Amino acid sequence: MSARPRPGSLLATKLVARGVRLTNQRRKILELIESEGGHLDAARIQELARERQISVDRATVYRTLALLKQHGLVEELDFLHVRGDQHFYESRGLGDHLHACCYRCGRVSELRTATLDRLKEELRDNLGFRTESVRVEVGGCCKECAEHEEQVSPVVI
Ligand SMILES: [Zn+2]
Ligand SMILES: [Zn+2]
Repeated sequence: MSARPRPGSLLATKLVARGVRLTNQRRKILELIESEGGHLDAARIQELARERQISVDRATVYRTLALLKQHGLVEELDFLHVRGDQHFYESRGLGDHLHACCYRCGRVSELRTATLDRLKEELRDNLGFRTESVRVEVGGCCKECAEHEEQVSPVVI
């Protein structure tokens, strides 16, 4: 069995380049996070591992996530707690986007918008600030919930 990182595992390659030693378990978690993408919490990562017959304990998942965070490879998000207290992680470098979080159903939608680029420009122009990461979480009511609310409580005039 080879100890070299597989070509697909960019996160592993980046961590190794930073001098981090990776156990097989950690590598497998990294591969999982990469192949699944999106917003994952520790419980979901462990569930995915189980589905793929990879045995990892929760502590290893948390340590691996902490490592990724420490090296700036993932963004830690709480989605305004619309889905509870857990934190979610997503790979950096997916392009800046904001998260619209529904207080009613917990749905999180992504929006890519030039507004974020303008925000970075304003920060640079007004504060001389160089933005390295952007995290915008907006709370409200999603389209589906808004439509549902209109149906169950019609406005009576
Ligand atoms: Zn909703
Ligand atoms: Zn996202």
